[in-house]
Amino acid sequence: MSTIADNVSRVSARIHQAAASSQRDPAAIGLLAVSKTKPAPALREAHAAGISDFGENYLQEALGKQAELSDLPLTWHFIGPIQSNKTRAIAEQFDWVHSVDRLKIAQRLSEQRPAGLPPLNICIQVNVSGEASKSGCTPADLPALAAAIGALPNLRLRGLMAIPEPTEDRAEQDAAFGAVQQLQQHLDLPLDTLSMGMSHDLEAAIANGATWVRIGTALFGARDYAQA
Ligand SMILES: *Cc1c(COP(=O)(O)O)cnc(C)c1O
Repeated sequence: MSTIADNVSRVSARIHQAAASSQRDPAAIGLLAVSKTKPAPALREAHAAGISDFGENYLQEALGKQAELSDLPLTWHFIGPIQSNKTRAIAEQFDWVHSVDRLKIAQRLSEQRPAGLPPLNICIQVNVSGEASKSGCTPADLPALAAAIGALPNLRLRGLMAIPEPTEDRAEQDAAFGAVQQLQQHLDLPLDTLSMGMSHDLEAAIANGATWVRIGTALFGARDYAQA
């Protein structure tokens, strides 16, 4: 059985290899460890192996782990669907939110971001797989949504996030991630972030400009309960 440290080495090697293949600086690609369903000691192990950014999908679960790991200098990313009644805790407890797909949620996050904290880093989740996915704004709605979110005071719009329909076909992966990169380039905004690529498709995501890859199973193994 491989340890989390072994997995961190393997994933880092994949990131470096993919960066080299597309003449990119590997330092421009962040490894976001997706720790949903994993207990705090697993995150502690990942941190000891060099990981400082963790992505969580479920608020209550995340808050528990944040309390248990408050002695570590970690950066927390919220990456799951967001209900309105959860925005206050997210605005207070996270550094990044990758899954914003409507203005109402962004407005609440901006209003509820505590005054003493830096602006909350935001990615807009965009749906490039059409009917296949229900989360994410449509490419048609993106320009207006991005302009509106970019104008909110306590948020810093960083870029786009996408979860394309899973496929093992490299050409299909490239088409989906390439579409996200194109959408980003066509927005007339100072954006520096593309959050895309998971355990099975990080190579294609990096070839198409990913700056955060969100990796769960390749670091922590299979999820611990069926919900995820
Ligand atoms: C679970 C999850 C991941 C990680 O997926 P893996 O295939 O386990 O790497 C990445 N992004 C989001 C939004 C997720 O919910």
